Amino acid sequence: MDIILEAREIRYQYPRGPEAISGISFHVRRGEKIALVGPNGAGKSTLMQMFNGMIRPSEGTILYNNKVLQYDAQSLRGLRQRVGYVLQNPDRQIIAPTVWQDVAFGPANLGCDEPAIRKAVADALRHVGLEGFDRRPPHQLSGGEKKRVAIAGVLAMDPELLVFDEPTSGLDPAGSEDIMELLDELNHDGKTVILSTHNVELAYPWADRAILMVDGKILREDIPEKAFGNAEIVRKAHLSLPTLLELHIELIRRGFPLPGKKPQTILDMVQGIESMMESRNREEPGTVTIGNVDCELLEALMTLLSRSPDLPIGAMGTRAKQYADTHKLRLNFTYGVIDKCILKALSGEDSLILTTERMVDRVHHRVGAYGEESGTCIRVCELGSGESTYRGGPAESRRPGERL
Ligand code: ADP
Repeated sequence: MDIILEAREIRYQYPRGPEAISGISFHVRRGEKIALVGPNGAGKSTLMQMFNGMIRPSEGTILYNNKVLQYDAQSLRGLRQRVGYVLQNPDRQIIAPTVWQDVAFGPANLGCDEPAIRKAVADALRHVGLEGFDRRPPHQLSGGEKKRVAIAGVLAMDPELLVFDEPTSGLDPAGSEDIMELLDELNHDGKTVILSTHNVELAYPWADRAILMVDGKILREDIPEKAFGNAEIVRKAHLSLPTLLELHIELIRRGFPLPGKKPQTILDMVQGIESMMESRNREEPGTVTIGNVDCELLEALMTLLSRSPDLPIGAMGTRAKQYADTHKLRLNFTYGVIDKCILKALSGEDSLILTTERMVDRVHHRVGAYGEESGTCIRVCELGSGESTYRGGPAESRRPGERL
């Protein structure tokens, strides 16, 4: 594993301030896109300022390219050439009266000669899409353009690791998307990119790994689907679940047979839905069998379960649940049972609903109504009797007492 940056048990206390970092360890692999995600005050900026030596940990060590950081002027100069830091507020980063002069500041400071400076500035401005902006005074630029000037200033030193503090703060949605695209491009060109944000919607689809922080500690560090996959941890981090993930969890919870892989992008979600629809269209719907616990049922039930031991079983109503308990039947569904069995049927699986005499009609009716709405034929049969197939005929249309 090619580790570019590593933190070992670091702590930091501001003079006359709080302990902002309280014992953090992690590593970043070369070429990764890392999102540090947490609410305001979590310690993200403090932590990131340690990456280029702006802040020195009170305890613990930071390693860059497997070497412990040294804080003498010469070592820091070398480090800051390799680790570029883009501040949240570009007005604090841009210091020169023209774009060209500002971007040239870094390479000039490194002692590059004039042609090398010119080339570095031209390349950096091209990279951020600001060709022709050389003579413009930065204060006349838009927020997004200023951000690009600040990024160009860092790129002009050709760093290998780029650190962005809240890169989209203050930008409109289109400007934010542009900047995130630029970060992707830079990563594609081989740069390792770390950003901080409290915006889960931004971090979730973008990052290779997300580090969730709160109160100066890491709560969770993993690929985004896993880091954001635990609602309890996300809540502890004072964040919200990314919308895509919340939707996926909710649909799975309701029994939609979506692929288990969590979607990281809208495209993933659409593909998941499409493959669910395809498998629905491909397969014959399964059968919903009703076991009426008010009838003599046991023998037929045992025969069915010996034939299909993994048959999903739902129980509706207290008596049906007691029946399942008495006969040691494991229940897959105990609420929303009919709909869950309809979903099973749609993915080609059979299922069994245990219920009481009173509720049998309700099952027929609900499955029938679904068939009417969707045009999908789902067979319903009662244990120990025949089979009914609904093609849209509501249960009420059956003759009273009819058992199909
Ligand atoms: P984040 O970037 O996640 O919003 P910060 O790293 O800015 O968090 O802040 C972490 C904690 O350190 C907060 O409690 C904040 O008030 C405190 N803090 C940040 N900067 C300073 C400072 N210069 N002096 C004293 N305390 C600070």
